[in-house]
Amino acid sequence: MSPATAAAAAQALAPLDLRLTRHRRAVLGALEGAGRPLTVDEVVQRSSVPTSTAYRNLGELVEAGVVVRVSGVGGGDRHELAEQFSQHHHHHLVCVECGIVSDFDPSAQLEKLIAREVDALLATSGFRVTQHVFDVRGQCQACQASDGEPGQ
Ligand SMILES: [Zn+2]
Ligand SMILES: [Zn+2]
Repeated sequence: MSPATAAAAAQALAPLDLRLTRHRRAVLGALEGAGRPLTVDEVVQRSSVPTSTAYRNLGELVEAGVVVRVSGVGGGDRHELAEQFSQHHHHHLVCVECGIVSDFDPSAQLEKLIAREVDALLATSGFRVTQHVFDVRGQCQACQASDGEPGQ
């Protein structure tokens, strides 16, 4: 995990009387290195943190605002570093067959378009925009290859 991310995470945990323990650091490292939102099982595989600890740590990290739950399809929450900690604004591709969520980087043009259109739509609402979420749903390549059959 990058030192800047670790320092910011430690600061966010402090008000909850939580420290950046070895396990919490490992959980965050798994999320940071994944490049896509992870299920709890995937976090366990990649961090070697015991399952019950991973559940508890993820809940605490969500409460501290360091990790966010990503809405996907079906059961099994997925998790990623909050954008203010990852410094990586991105959008998600959600496969409606297998539920995998992938990150994708928007073009500068798309970001400008979204900002401009949203500003125009909300001009008279008094709403102050701080962030946007833009998911794209469809079928991932693996699911297309298996003709939409769930699983393999
Ligand atoms: Zn899929
Ligand atoms: Zn965006």
